[in-house]
Amino acid sequence: MRVYNFSAGPSMLPLKVLERVQKGLIDHDGTGMSVMEMSHRSKPYEKINDRTEALLRELMNVPDNYDILFVQGGATNQFSAVPLNIGTVNRKADYVVTGNFAKIAHKEGSVHLDAAVAASSEDKNFTYIPDLSPSSFRPDADYVHICYNNTIFGTRYQAAPDTAGIPLVADMSSMILSQSVDVSKFAVIYAGAQKNIGPAGVTVVIVRHDLTERADPKCPVMLRYDNQVKSKSLFNTPPCFATYVIMEVLNYLKETGGITEMQKINERKSAKLYDYIDSSNYYVNSVQKQFRSLMNVPFVSPSKELDALFVAQAAEAGLVSLKGHRLVGGMRASIYNAMPEEGVDALISFMDKFKKEHKL
Ligand SMILES: *Cc1c(COP(=O)(O)O)cnc(C)c1O
Repeated sequence: MRVYNFSAGPSMLPLKVLERVQKGLIDHDGTGMSVMEMSHRSKPYEKINDRTEALLRELMNVPDNYDILFVQGGATNQFSAVPLNIGTVNRKADYVVTGNFAKIAHKEGSVHLDAAVAASSEDKNFTYIPDLSPSSFRPDADYVHICYNNTIFGTRYQAAPDTAGIPLVADMSSMILSQSVDVSKFAVIYAGAQKNIGPAGVTVVIVRHDLTERADPKCPVMLRYDNQVKSKSLFNTPPCFATYVIMEVLNYLKETGGITEMQKINERKSAKLYDYIDSSNYYVNSVQKQFRSLMNVPFVSPSKELDALFVAQAAEAGLVSLKGHRLVGGMRASIYNAMPEEGVDALISFMDKFKKEHKL
């Protein structure tokens, strides 16, 4: 039996995709083997690699002057790849610290260059996105780094900040493909796959081509964007099977109306949940309303004891992985693209039942 899995990542995949993958598991497309057993230099795999890139380019409307890379090491590896590839002109970069991952990105940036905190929302436990304008940034910074959706704290940017031409780098791990994004506003977009794109093991990097040509000579070869561009992300053995599953996720996203349609569903799903929380007189989400994430919804009940009971009883009811991150406590419902609307409805019904059974 399938459960509704609210994990922040790795997270749910669409059932249709799992069924398709299962169907091709033993014999992919008449090759007599699974994608797991296939040479990454073979024609059938080349086809998967090319198709995955083409689908992502089409779905996200990625302009021709951007490269799309499929690399390893997770979003975390990009915390090092970004300074080593593009922070090489003035060796200065500005970071906006809006949560835990943004903080780690900044810390890793400071290993390689002069990494300043341009703004932070730590004063209010990351419950908002700071006001930003071109004057927030040093004009000679090589890039500005932001985390577009903060997975742990449940905030997101409403729009890309204006950096007055400084290349803007965004960690989109927990919101990529969930809403329309104007790629041309960004210099680099990166995202670990395991939240909205597919299985763990692949990281998507979308980089403006001119920025791939200034890597630090000491940048490890696997991190070099120019190297990955030249080899079409096939410099060494890639996680073929994970990329293949991504291809099927993208095929399915395209068949079901693409990102525009997905965004409507995500807006509906999250609005339902926030509306219920706000009107419940019982559950609380402390994020400032205009910054609430479409994807990660943290909330608390009236006490820590009730939170623990909630998580345990929800799991028994087939609503799993609702425990909040240790930095926030309480609960967190991650409602990525693959979480069906019925899953959110089931959660709200459970929340209401729990509230009635545990009145104050
Ligand atoms: C999950 C996550 C990461 C870490 O991703 P890995 O692929 O595990 O390295 C980084 N940034 C954000 C915003 C995330 O949600």
